[in-house]
Amino acid sequence: MTATPIAVQVRAPGKINLALRVGAPRPDGYHPIATVFQAVSLYEDVVATRADGISLEIHGRGEDLPVDATNLAVRAAVLLCETSGTRAGAHLSLTKQVPVAGGMAGGSADAAATLLACDQLWGTGLSRDELAELASELGADVPFALTGMSAMGTGRGDLITPVMSRGTYHWVLAVQDEGLSTPEVFREYDQLQHLDLDDGPAPRLDDAVLAALLSGDPIQLSRQLGNDLQEAALELRPELGDVLAAADRAGALAALVSGSGPTVAALALDHAHAVSVAGVMRAAEVAKEILLVTGPVPGARVLEHVHSR
Ligand code: ATP
Repeated sequence: MTATPIAVQVRAPGKINLALRVGAPRPDGYHPIATVFQAVSLYEDVVATRADGISLEIHGRGEDLPVDATNLAVRAAVLLCETSGTRAGAHLSLTKQVPVAGGMAGGSADAAATLLACDQLWGTGLSRDELAELASELGADVPFALTGMSAMGTGRGDLITPVMSRGTYHWVLAVQDEGLSTPEVFREYDQLQHLDLDDGPAPRLDDAVLAALLSGDPIQLSRQLGNDLQEAALELRPELGDVLAAADRAGALAALVSGSGPTVAALALDHAHAVSVAGVMRAAEVAKEILLVTGPVPGARVLEHVHSR
């Protein structure tokens, strides 16, 4: 029998929504969505170490986020602890690269990474499906952070169907200083659409986006990008219009607001083109940071198991 480790390091990715369609809110307030996620190379790393109780420290971005039971990483560890009935604890050291409240599901990636790290640390014996169920209890975007790569999300975005994708896509991300609240963006969306409860058709994705992913051709994909929340994000943060215009001027194939924003993702032809687009966007000074990422990348995965000597 293999001894359980004293520490486990897990990495989970942030995401971009390549296509995001939103339906009318249900009576419980949730909006049904149909989306295509792509996991990108901006990562959240969690090192879980055996300890008494559950505790958290944060490095990188989000150092002023709460480290108490309201943090999604702590909520994930507590939920797994209760579900598995373990008496063990964990200290979580989280290093965040994904912008906080940026529309890239960083908090969800933290929860997914923590679930997997604590699962390995405690040797819970839960299956990947059982972990996915816990993931969906924690938040709509958490199951995708476990799965990664490219996938369709329906329901609240938590019902995941992996989709085939060829090649690697090169993105330039424009990261803003201040995040946007996802619920606020949905409220703005409702006001703009004048949607009443249960009014309107179920959201539907155009098959063309899936065909484009299969082609591996960024030009084809660029024609299929779209986000129903973009108008609402622009209404709340009009400066994002300047970011989209700068991406256009920089020669990006297309650009869109990621999820509920405010991060803008601009698609490039290849790495060299992404470097050139990033240079022009940086010079335009429309964002706090301009980053280069690629996708798709895998979901939450173990980087290291540390055993005592
Ligand atoms: P999504 O795209 O899934 O709606 P997001 O990327 O816009 O989310 P997140 O960074 O995931 O935003 O977090 C949204 C809010 O969740 C934050 O403003 C913060 O208050 C809260 N939160 C709780 N735990 C975390 C965490 N570990 N990391 C980031 N935010 C957290």
